[in-house]
Amino acid sequence: MPEAFLHLLDAVVPASQRPMVDASYTRPHWTSFRLNTLKADPADTLAELMAQPALNLEALDGVDGVFLVPPAQREHLTHHPAAGDGRIYIQGLSSMAAVWALDPQPGEEILDLAAAPGGKTSYIAARMQGMGRLAAVEPVKARFHRLKANLQRLGAGHVHTYLKDGAVVGKLTPERFDRVLLDAPCSSEAQFTRLDPTSWAHWSPKKVKESARLQARLIRSAWAALKPGGRLVYSTCSLSPEENELTVQGLLAEQADAAVEAITLPTRPDTLPTLAGLSHWQGRALDPRLAQSLRILPSDRTDAFYICCLRKAA
Ligand code: SAM
Repeated sequence: MPEAFLHLLDAVVPASQRPMVDASYTRPHWTSFRLNTLKADPADTLAELMAQPALNLEALDGVDGVFLVPPAQREHLTHHPAAGDGRIYIQGLSSMAAVWALDPQPGEEILDLAAAPGGKTSYIAARMQGMGRLAAVEPVKARFHRLKANLQRLGAGHVHTYLKDGAVVGKLTPERFDRVLLDAPCSSEAQFTRLDPTSWAHWSPKKVKESARLQARLIRSAWAALKPGGRLVYSTCSLSPEENELTVQGLLAEQADAAVEAITLPTRPDTLPTLAGLSHWQGRALDPRLAQSLRILPSDRTDAFYICCLRKAA
């Protein structure tokens, strides 16, 4: 993997966690999925999956309807008809964690500002139980069409979709949404695997800087679109502090009405290994409130992820 990325791991992963993290780059992972309540009765779907001798489901402690299968069973799961017709959705636990942190409620007005291919949008829609209004934004045309197709397939065709640059949404809809998810475009470091050296082919420190510039614009737009009293969840699948703590710190420095909220994930730490957000970077102290944000470490069940939960004063 690139030298600069290995230095980053040295800087952000404690030595005690390093063997787990290193192993995650060389071994195939467990596959997680959720039963999609928008498409079918989850009890029926579960009964059908459990009747498959080729699948050994491990239920995720603390969250209804989420399961994992061991690495060797991935193909059986992806080729199962329930995955094809949207009765289940294969989704990383770290991605689901962003939705758990958002905690969408039925009847609310919610914005997903960087939505394609729609994994988190459809989970939010399921949690809203068809009550309220969910808007999903994506500016890249091909990805926007994929988002729409996925939402249809997953029974979330009622979601309002917008082909738009997320950076302008805050100006267009100021203080409108109860909750906003910004699952920001990033350098995608979570996708690195030594099993496929092309996985880091497009990565470089320059790409990290470019992503951080876009994220700075998007988080300000997300903040502007949030109602007083509302919650913004900022997430990335990057390990770089420039795309995570430093992006949030930029917003905190400007917005006196912003508070960082503690995140309590519903699962056991041995399934979802986390660290507190960084309090220092490159010899500089960061805003101490960032210690309330979460870094999910890569493991055999999780991908690298960052989540910060912000509340706008009422
Ligand atoms: N939330 C999605 C999911 O769970 O399926 C994944 C989102 S992905 C990390 C980031 C998305 O942001 C990509 O689809 C990318 O095309 C989109 N994006 C890129 N530039 C953007 C912009 N200016 N405004 C909004 N979204 C943008």
